[in-house]
Amino acid sequence: MKDIIIIGAGPAGLTAAIYALRAGKSVLVLEKELFGGQITYSPSVENYPGYKQISGNEFAENLIDQATSLGAEIELAEVVQILEGPVKTVITDGGRYECRSVIIASGSRHRHLGLPREEELVGAGVSYCAVCDGAFFKGKTVAVAGGGDAALQDAIFLSDRCQHVSIIHRRDTFRGEARLEAILRSRGNVEFVMDSVIESLEGDKKLSGITVRNKKTGEERKLPLDGLFVAVGQEPQNAPFADIVALDVSGYADAGEDCATKVPGIFVAGDCRRKSVRQLTTAVGDGAVAGLAAVNYINSL
Ligand SMILES: Cc1cc2nc3c(=O)[nH]c(=O)nc-3n(C[C@H](O)[C@H](O)[C@H](O)COP(=O)(O)OP(=O)(O)OC[C@H]3O[C@@H](n4cnc5c(N)ncnc54)[C@H](O)[C@@H]3O)c2cc1C
Repeated sequence: MKDIIIIGAGPAGLTAAIYALRAGKSVLVLEKELFGGQITYSPSVENYPGYKQISGNEFAENLIDQATSLGAEIELAEVVQILEGPVKTVITDGGRYECRSVIIASGSRHRHLGLPREEELVGAGVSYCAVCDGAFFKGKTVAVAGGGDAALQDAIFLSDRCQHVSIIHRRDTFRGEARLEAILRSRGNVEFVMDSVIESLEGDKKLSGITVRNKKTGEERKLPLDGLFVAVGQEPQNAPFADIVALDVSGYADAGEDCATKVPGIFVAGDCRRKSVRQLTTAVGDGAVAGLAAVNYINSL
């Protein structure tokens, strides 16, 4: 039996592992697909303190190396259920594991548009994070897809840096805050492409533009672009834990800064938790808090 099982080998889960291992606990990390988490998709990270610039892959490799050199075991397995109790059982697609404490660090995914070639253009013009990647498009022409607060905030952020920003929304009104819309409407370099959906992504190795279709008129139009920022929502990866952890209306684990859930010994960390900023810094902060909380819980048994 392990002391702690961590679900998800992203920055939050691996940081929790580092803290727990350094406190003398045994740790098994279960990861369903992406060793290092979603940051591996990022060609360049430039906002993590201590590194002026590092690729997402290198950042992830460093974390994995640090955790495994301290003794973390990392296995490829998808967790489908947790059974609570003094001894917790973690059930995966391939087996069952027992432990004293569980940290859920399952992250969230940016919802994708589902267009052909979208995945291969990630990092080559298509981005899901304006805060992360906006600086790479300084002085360029970009578009934002979406109509909620995140899309409006991204468009405002990009309009400060880019030469031209189009915001593409499938309805005639935005879902986001009126105050944000007013700020955006006051910008001289923003075009509003309403009632419209993106039909296709153009470009060979790099995005060069998109085709949008007006849903009311049926008219199609090509927009030459350097970058497309997709802000059509996030999907937390919490479905397997819904019976154990309270989820908020958007599906995030409803836990505060202490990362504690309603079940003693089960903690949540990182992007899967309710919070306002989802970045590496906040994920690793949670990882430290949850790792030490799990250690304290085990020591108190
Ligand atoms: C393209 C891109 C660029 C980004 N750039 C930056 C940047 O420049 N700076 C920055 O600060 N942030 C950036 N981010 C955001 C950053 O990557 C996240 O905030 C961070 O990775 C969150 O860490 P996490 O550990 O909470 O979750 P994740 O990184 O999402 O890791 C969660 C892991 O859990 C696994 N998992 C989920 N469910 C299960 C399950 N049931 N069983 C087993 N494993 C499971 C997932 O496969 C995943 O590997 C970027 C994100 C993207 C997508």
